[in-house]
Amino acid sequence: MIAAVPRSGWHVAAVVEASPETPSARRLVLDVPTWPGNAAGQHLDVRLTAADGYTATRSYSIASSGPGTRVVLAIDRLPGGEVSPFLVDEVRTGDEFEVHGPLGRFFVWHPVEPGERLTDAAADGPRPVQLIAGGSGVVPLVAIASAHGAAHDPTQMRMLVSVRTPEDAFFAAELAELARASDAFALDHAYTRRAPDGWTGHVGRLTRDEVERSVVPAADAPLVYVCGSTGFVERVASWLIELGHDPRAIRTERFGGT
Ligand SMILES: Cc1cc2nc3c(=O)[nH]c(=O)nc-3n(C[C@H](O)[C@H](O)[C@H](O)COP(=O)(O)OP(=O)(O)OC[C@H]3O[C@@H](n4cnc5c(N)ncnc54)[C@H](O)[C@@H]3O)c2cc1C
Repeated sequence: MIAAVPRSGWHVAAVVEASPETPSARRLVLDVPTWPGNAAGQHLDVRLTAADGYTATRSYSIASSGPGTRVVLAIDRLPGGEVSPFLVDEVRTGDEFEVHGPLGRFFVWHPVEPGERLTDAAADGPRPVQLIAGGSGVVPLVAIASAHGAAHDPTQMRMLVSVRTPEDAFFAAELAELARASDAFALDHAYTRRAPDGWTGHVGRLTRDEVERSVVPAADAPLVYVCGSTGFVERVASWLIELGHDPRAIRTERFGGT
């Protein structure tokens, strides 16, 4: 990788922190001096440029939101992948690469700001919100849950995170703290391979019954955000529709894969 030179619409990002997030993933904190700020739920494109000029570009969700030049990403290593093993295993503090964004208008959520009358809020504001993530798909939902917590938004928000094992949960401490700090935010987990000691629920691939039990019921007309691998998102979205959720209220972000 060579020092990044900004092109039109691109920003230079410097890695200021790189820390393990899960056994297969890493959290990167970037400083992007020209970053315009971003809404909760948006993503950016990362472009890596090799010494011979070869470039590779991939999308990554942003775990942070609001104004400011710090941008938080969390990248899961896809064995044999071109970009993610580099970002997880090779990138060092002080390295630079290019980013383009913020991107995405549909998969965003805005808190109701303190003092704002609910009737003045964006149409999305006062509806209950259900967040559903598979693995690294939790990243943009962390931005949404954090924005909800920071704004002391009274909107009921519930999050269901499906992970292989407890160690595979991204931003686990931050999400647990948000749930502890606010009655308006509830956090549920599903475990596909191994659950924590004392867990009495099902262990295995997420099922329609678990989704039905763990999410805001269709009768409450929640706005639902689903994010993860393409296969996960499609399965969950089809269950939600079978369970009576309005397809127009289901927002999806597909990371790829099956
Ligand atoms: C909007 C958006 C946001 C994203 N946000 C994140 C994020 O926050 N964190 C994160 O870790 N990733 C995220 N991704 C996925 C990311 O863009 C890359 O696809 C991923 O890092 C793999 O890139 P790679 O170059 O390592 O693998 P590649 O060399 O591109 O892919 C190798 C093979 O794996 C398949 N594949 C690609 N993605 C997946 C997947 N998710 N699961 C299984 N197989 C896959 C490909 O089809 C290909 O066959 C996001 C994707 C999108 C579209």
